[in-house]
Amino acid sequence: MQTRLHSTLPEICVVGAGFAGLRCADILIQHGFKVTILEARDRIGGRAHQAMLLSGHLVDLGPNWIHGTDNNPILELAKTTKTAMHSWGDELNVFDEDGSQLKEGKDIGQVMWKIIAQAFKHSASNSATIDPNESLKDFFEQKILEEFPEQGDSQKKKILMQMAELWGTFVGSPVDRQSLKFFWLEECIDGENLFAAGTYKEILASIAAPALAGAKLELSTKVTHITSCSGVVSISTDTGRTLDFDEVVMTTPLGWLKRHKHVFEPPLPPRLCSAIDSIGYGSLDKVYLTFPRAFWLDSADGQEFTGFIQWLAPQYAKDMNPARWCQEVVDLSTLPGSCAHPTLLFYIYGEQSIAMANELASRMSKEERDEYLMEFFKPYVSRLPNYREDGKDCIPISCLATTWVLDDLAGNGSYSTLRTGLLEGDRDIEIMREGLPDRNVWFAGEHTAPFVALGTSTGAYWSGEAVGLRIADAYGKTAKDGGDVPEGKLGDGDVEKEVNLRVFADQGLEN
Ligand SMILES: Cc1cc2nc3c(=O)[nH]c(=O)nc-3n(C[C@H](O)[C@H](O)[C@H](O)COP(=O)(O)OP(=O)(O)OC[C@H]3O[C@@H](n4cnc5c(N)ncnc54)[C@H](O)[C@@H]3O)c2cc1C
Repeated sequence: MQTRLHSTLPEICVVGAGFAGLRCADILIQHGFKVTILEARDRIGGRAHQAMLLSGHLVDLGPNWIHGTDNNPILELAKTTKTAMHSWGDELNVFDEDGSQLKEGKDIGQVMWKIIAQAFKHSASNSATIDPNESLKDFFEQKILEEFPEQGDSQKKKILMQMAELWGTFVGSPVDRQSLKFFWLEECIDGENLFAAGTYKEILASIAAPALAGAKLELSTKVTHITSCSGVVSISTDTGRTLDFDEVVMTTPLGWLKRHKHVFEPPLPPRLCSAIDSIGYGSLDKVYLTFPRAFWLDSADGQEFTGFIQWLAPQYAKDMNPARWCQEVVDLSTLPGSCAHPTLLFYIYGEQSIAMANELASRMSKEERDEYLMEFFKPYVSRLPNYREDGKDCIPISCLATTWVLDDLAGNGSYSTLRTGLLEGDRDIEIMREGLPDRNVWFAGEHTAPFVALGTSTGAYWSGEAVGLRIADAYGKTAKDGGDVPEGKLGDGDVEKEVNLRVFADQGLEN
């Protein structure tokens, strides 16, 4: 790429005010560029967004985990903003398909994490030769015989395979669609996974501050066309305007790019189109149910009910859940100090998130939607200790569900994922990351992140930083802030070291 010659102050447009766009704007402003941010929503933050529960507690609708603690800039921001963090360790409570608590749930859970770590190492060492159609589920089916070789182990095998379904809550896509060939790309920054008990609110405010001070931010402005011609990029908006810029950084989500490839003129090159098509886009949604009190902690056995709770392949909820989707919760009543509130946070993914979002969309009033959510989740809540059908503490006082899967500006989903059938996953990501500098069009966002941070808020932040620095470089400007963005290629990592995957708990993945 040639160095840009420019006599006046270059004008850069950043499309989207999520973590990627805000961080990119920050870097560009630091290097003296004139920056305009066009954001379709009436707020900043993109997928990083909060809402207030009726109880007065703020909750995250998008990210609430910080994946990896070693040199993670989002963790540094959490510290400087005094955002409370929490880890439940490997606390796990499991209910079987009949709704009875499983004594050996935690032990089988450990076997599941061991197999996941083995799958990661197998993928990292043999990616080139693994059949693209092989899934993580296939790997489980092979390994399960080694773990449970006895005839009498059939019950354990069944439970393990049911638990494996919950891999979907980490990637927003089912375990039988998880590419084994590119499973190595699921690795995260080393260290722990921490829950942002104080929410991402202050982290977002801190990332946004330089952009809010130094860029021109236009909210409620949706970009509809991007035309590059002779070193100028013309942007059309839904407000009927056409604006010209020297460079444009697109941070719209991967799911949005998949549906809107036609907005680029000239058309995107075929290899970039195939990269956009090939990388999957998951669907993960959240449901918060708040109770008058955390009744499940009332008794001695309830005290053990902290952390994660899973309900495997329920047989007992066929009216509302005929597909027997597994359910998973984290218990927010055990967050530290003032962050605690009697709320259960359900993570739902894939077909369930699509079906539930459509059910909610078909109900006109909030009362009807709350009624549906209460009825849907009652079979699981009713398995908790101290539950009483007529107990007023056992009826939710507030329900809140996200529907990212219906949100075009979020790409109708949650974040990028690596699906079976994928042939060149690492190269696809590099091609999106490279963008079209010769056409003055660049791409940033979690889908272009360094491999160790794909799909995460850290990855989005780093991707914006990296593009900002590349544009500065193209104009011959020396790097100021930033520059610590990792590269991360297959083979860089030591496959023998402990693995941190994009999961919620720290599940002993050293084997
Ligand atoms: C339910 C859920 C849970 C998650 N959990 C975690 C987690 O625990 N930890 C973690 O690290 N990550 C998590 N993530 C992923 C994380 O939220 C994303 O990786 C990150 O926020 C993406 O940032 P971004 O800047 O790439 O994209 P976005 O935040 O989506 O920003 C893109 C912006 O572009 C705007 N836009 C879209 N189209 C247009 C248009 N045509 N014109 C103008 N503007 C447009 C959008 O409104 C948006 O503001 C989660 C995501 C979801 C949905």
